[in-house]
Amino acid sequence: MRVLVTGGAGFIGSHLCEALVARGDQVWVLDDLSTGRFENIEHVPEITTIIDSTLNQEIVRDLVREVDVVYHLAATVGVQLVVNHPIRTIVNNIRGTEVVLEETCRYRRRLLITSTSEVYGKGAGDVFREQDDRVIGPTDRLRWCYAESKAVDEFLALAYWREKRHPTVITRLFNTVGPRQTGRYGMVIPTFVRQALLGEPLTVFGDGQQSRCFAHVGDVVPALIALMDDPKTNGEIYNIGSNQRVTIESLARRVIERADSSSTLRYVPYEQAYGPGYEDMRHRAPCLDKIGAAIGYKPSTSLDQILDTVIASVREQIRRGA
Ligand code: UDP
Repeated sequence: MRVLVTGGAGFIGSHLCEALVARGDQVWVLDDLSTGRFENIEHVPEITTIIDSTLNQEIVRDLVREVDVVYHLAATVGVQLVVNHPIRTIVNNIRGTEVVLEETCRYRRRLLITSTSEVYGKGAGDVFREQDDRVIGPTDRLRWCYAESKAVDEFLALAYWREKRHPTVITRLFNTVGPRQTGRYGMVIPTFVRQALLGEPLTVFGDGQQSRCFAHVGDVVPALIALMDDPKTNGEIYNIGSNQRVTIESLARRVIERADSSSTLRYVPYEQAYGPGYEDMRHRAPCLDKIGAAIGYKPSTSLDQILDTVIASVREQIRRGA
């Protein structure tokens, strides 16, 4: 197959491209290198990379015409980036997806959209199911512009499916981690690992009792491919992630232990970390029943295995001076 991956130089995108090339697909990447890095894919010479934005409709059109299917991962992501650059977040995420939908619909190319668990907002439920109500904070809390931009993407994709039968599947990614993820935009595991390896205190935001489930990118990528390959997923939304829950405080302790570090924990109030008026999600875990029934998805990498792969990768980055 000929495949276009938008955001293919990013953390998840680069792992996806590797997997697609490994199975014999011909892969094009469209990435503006805003948060992605060419180094993430340069070791795979089979990939053709175009450095441009999904906001450039002509480029998107030219590429879409050449391929059979499109994985749309390009987006502004990372809490820190979202809070610091809300205009960029809203425009990239909404307009970029609109362009990709218009062009894939024009040529009737199958499309997979990556959305996010953020769209559930701060719902009080124990685990989030695809049909759950969404509880989003007020518009002056800028964090929520990310959730809302992705929710608009979902609405638009579903509208294209209902009105035009445009073959599209939507995935909601929960916290995904693994080698090459950068902590620069706020992601907790690469941040903690870097701090532990440098002997710095681990910055636990709030009281550290908030919980998350972390999935390994090596479990997530095959799920993206399987959902794309199955036409029964058209017009459907699927959670993807792990259901191993951990509090951020115990995550920090585990990182210190796995990295054999002498670092301590430093509790940082949210206002100090993200600015005034920040709202965090207390708990977040996916229900995986729907994706389990569709493609037999079951995450298999344990948190300790995940931490070991990230520790090895960050150690290497530090050694290279990155
Ligand atoms: N977090 C933290 N210290 C950090 C970075 C993040 O305690 O240096 C917390 C953050 O407040 C959140 C959790 O870790 O409760 C996960 O943060 P991340 O940005 O990785 O993902 P989110 O789940 O917020 O999208």
